[in-house]
Amino acid sequence: MKFGEGVSTRLGVLLAASFAVLAAGCADLPELPEGARPSAAPSHPPYAATPADYKAVQDLLTRRAGAALKGDEAGFLATVDRRDQKLVDQQQTIFTNLQQLPMKSLAYEVEETEHTPDEVRNDGVLFAPKVVEVARLEEAHRAPVASSTDMTFVRHDGGWVIGRDRAAPTERYSRPWFGGPVTAATGRSVVVVTEREGPTEAAELLDRVTTARAEIKEDLRSVWRGEAGETPLIVDATFNGQPPGGTFEGDDGAAAVTYWVDAVGPPRSDMSSLAGAVIKDNPTATNRLATDDRTLRHELSHVYGPALVPTWVNEGLAEYLSGCASNICGEDEQRDKLLAHERAIPGDDEWGEDGSIDYAISHAAVSWLIEENGGLKKFLEFCNDFFLHKPGGREDFHDGTGKALRASYGLTERDLIEGTWGWFEDLPTG
Ligand SMILES: [Zn+2]
Repeated sequence: MKFGEGVSTRLGVLLAASFAVLAAGCADLPELPEGARPSAAPSHPPYAATPADYKAVQDLLTRRAGAALKGDEAGFLATVDRRDQKLVDQQQTIFTNLQQLPMKSLAYEVEETEHTPDEVRNDGVLFAPKVVEVARLEEAHRAPVASSTDMTFVRHDGGWVIGRDRAAPTERYSRPWFGGPVTAATGRSVVVVTEREGPTEAAELLDRVTTARAEIKEDLRSVWRGEAGETPLIVDATFNGQPPGGTFEGDDGAAAVTYWVDAVGPPRSDMSSLAGAVIKDNPTATNRLATDDRTLRHELSHVYGPALVPTWVNEGLAEYLSGCASNICGEDEQRDKLLAHERAIPGDDEWGEDGSIDYAISHAAVSWLIEENGGLKKFLEFCNDFFLHKPGGREDFHDGTGKALRASYGLTERDLIEGTWGWFEDLPTG
């Protein structure tokens, strides 16, 4: 992931602005004439679902998936409660989004478990079975991917229709079609999805992804990876979704993150149990993935970079390869802060507690090793061998840093810290 410098400030301004609009809206709320007021709350009598209800909902969703794949908008919208215009609008957007994407398969699995139904705007009994969406995108998934949904069904005209469809919070989200309007462009082993009204068109971003990916792969060609062949990839530069748990929250939320999504099927221990990688923009930030090649290159480095290394190696290398002109990207103004900072390489367990400082330290440490101690090829050998030095039974790869440095470089951790802070000394002032 990459922290977004200045994101919190911009977000703060944005929040303040939307609050002002809301406050003004409330003050100006006109008195509605009788009859134009919102109707009474819908009534939802208690209901105990039967096996026939599960089957009816499964059949409904099978028709929905078939309609989405065939491009049959009327058929797709026939599965939702047409009395609720907001719902119809939302579903029309989802349908249109699905048509932009190279869907290879789409299905829903209804499981015999019930959730508490969501609020639904129209009368009728409610039913909320567990529904899993199983989808596969051409070029982006090597196998179908399962995503939780949050659907509530309402009984209307003797059958079930979707009364509410919300994004379920999921750990590894791969549904860029669920939310606002998007456009997509498909390349070899990559699908790029952007906001329809965003700053960058999908085709343009695909060009930049293709170029950056070729360069990053070339830089990292000697990295040992468990995966044979090309990694299928989604670059999701939309504001849709909220993945993965917690990484985007707070003032120091990441600008973008990279993660892998699991393939549907029996669990396997090798990499092929993964359907593909996702590079995802922070939905609450400023569309950095679409506009900033450094963020894109940083995240691509995570796709092709070493896996069995501590976070300081992983993030420092991603920063190094992200392509900045100066020795530490965007950190120049932090020189005094960095020089005064506790002299230690941040460990995996406390990673991110110091926000972008941890990235700057790691970036400097990796830069010092590469630039002054033998180049990129030697550094990647150090990465490939790192797992040999992790103490047995310990989760934290950083515990192997001292041993790995000695084995690969003949250096101590103290040498690395001195080199790193020497690198900060050389930063331009002001
Ligand atoms: Zn990162």
